[in-house]
Amino acid sequence: MKKFDLIIIGGGRARNLALSAAKRGEKVAIIEKSILGGTCPNRGCIPSKLLIGHAHAVRSIQDSQRHFISSKIEYIDTEKIFETNNDFLSNVRDNSTKGLPEGVTLFEGEGVFLSDHEVQVNGTTLTADKIVVATGTRPRKALHEKAWTSDTIFPLNEGIPKSVTIVGAGFIGVELANFFDAIGVETTLLSRGSVLLNREDEDISAIFKEEFTKNVNVLFDAKISQVTHKDNAFTIDYESPEGKKSHSSEALIEATGRIPNTDNLRLENTSITVNKRGYIKRNEFCETDVKGVYAIGDVASKYALQHIASFEVVYLSKLFYGDEKKPLEYKYVPHAVFSEPEIASIGITEQEAKAQNLDYVTTLTPWTNSAKANAMRLQYQRTKFIVNPKTYEILGCHLIGPESSSVIHQVLAVMQIDNDIRHLANMMYVHPALNEVLLLGARKIMVKID
Ligand SMILES: Cc1cc2nc3c(=O)[nH]c(=O)nc-3n(C[C@H](O)[C@H](O)[C@H](O)COP(=O)(O)OP(=O)(O)OC[C@H]3O[C@@H](n4cnc5c(N)ncnc54)[C@H](O)[C@@H]3O)c2cc1C
Repeated sequence: MKKFDLIIIGGGRARNLALSAAKRGEKVAIIEKSILGGTCPNRGCIPSKLLIGHAHAVRSIQDSQRHFISSKIEYIDTEKIFETNNDFLSNVRDNSTKGLPEGVTLFEGEGVFLSDHEVQVNGTTLTADKIVVATGTRPRKALHEKAWTSDTIFPLNEGIPKSVTIVGAGFIGVELANFFDAIGVETTLLSRGSVLLNREDEDISAIFKEEFTKNVNVLFDAKISQVTHKDNAFTIDYESPEGKKSHSSEALIEATGRIPNTDNLRLENTSITVNKRGYIKRNEFCETDVKGVYAIGDVASKYALQHIASFEVVYLSKLFYGDEKKPLEYKYVPHAVFSEPEIASIGITEQEAKAQNLDYVTTLTPWTNSAKANAMRLQYQRTKFIVNPKTYEILGCHLIGPESSSVIHQVLAVMQIDNDIRHLANMMYVHPALNEVLLLGARKIMVKID
């Protein structure tokens, strides 16, 4: 049996914890069954966001008439798009895999628990007082074995389909659908319900639906009954409000959610427990039911986001090697949807405020007070604030419009410091920067409160 100070199962974001431990002279084992770096750089955030640039360029040309410019796309070199993105990915991969410092041993294989503090990989048994489980999630796959998921389309090297159906109306579905549609692949998105992005604030998802469906064909309220694959085409039979229907395409992408990688860990050999959905249960110090065994990132977190997994890695590093032993506290968790349109959000939605019976005031203001926003000549952009009228606390902020994911950081900073909407209403803004789109909403909220 090999003894280490720290064993990490899953080399996604937790790879950085191994580096941090090794810097302090610890002997670390990191077990990774796929590619070091995990989902984000290999099959998640990075590859999916690289596609946005291409989609954005296409949309700008398609919409140029808005600025009284007529233009036509002559040719989209899709091969080059995929080749360039794949090259970028292999560089990211090289950077993630090389350069593990002295003190860190990489075990390439699947780690399983033999007991609370014993882990086996490729027939070798390892033990440590500290074990961190960071095995992440994988796409739920239920429709057809030949269908793609976000795990199998990156790197994109299976050839470019003429048509694609994407099943799932969450952020991965709408981001991929926007890309494929923009580069000229005949794209259809299938949504079980009548909304897209159903976790967003209802005002925002309604605007998103209206704008997104101007570009992408969406079949709403489609309940799939059967998927078959024949002669290089998928046929998807589904029930719709108009009755039984069917839709065909060359490629099919399942984007119907993700499941935790806990079923492969042989947790039955331990006292570690999971919740109903299979995610590892842990306390406020990220420690599982077994003392000294921790769980971080997507496999245990309430949020499946890269910045949360990274935050938890830093937290654990402080917990292990710092002086303060404080419980994990996120304060505020922002997120964005990088589609067309772009959305960014922080805090609760209005429907959550209602469900929690909170005292709140809200405003939904257009971006027309900003010359920078007006220059885009778009009508739909909005800022929504939800604020506690007694304390001035921002309960939620939701943006829809270009660069929302950047603009939201100003709200995030205010919330993080002392969370008072009055800062956003009273501070000086660079005129006429895009961030002025926050000013009108904040001032209107103040009028409602005072
Ligand atoms: C298409 C897509 C787009 C995304 N876009 C964004 C975005 O824009 N912004 C954002 O914040 N987040 C985004 N995410 C989410 C983000 O990628 C994850 O939140 C983040 O990667 C989680 O990190 P992690 O370390 O917890 O898990 P992972 O990065 O998934 O790492 C887990 C690792 O554990 C390994 N593993 C699993 N089981 C075992 C085992 N038994 N033994 C050994 N190794 C094992 C896996 O191979 C994997 O490498 C996106 C995800 C996807 C799929």
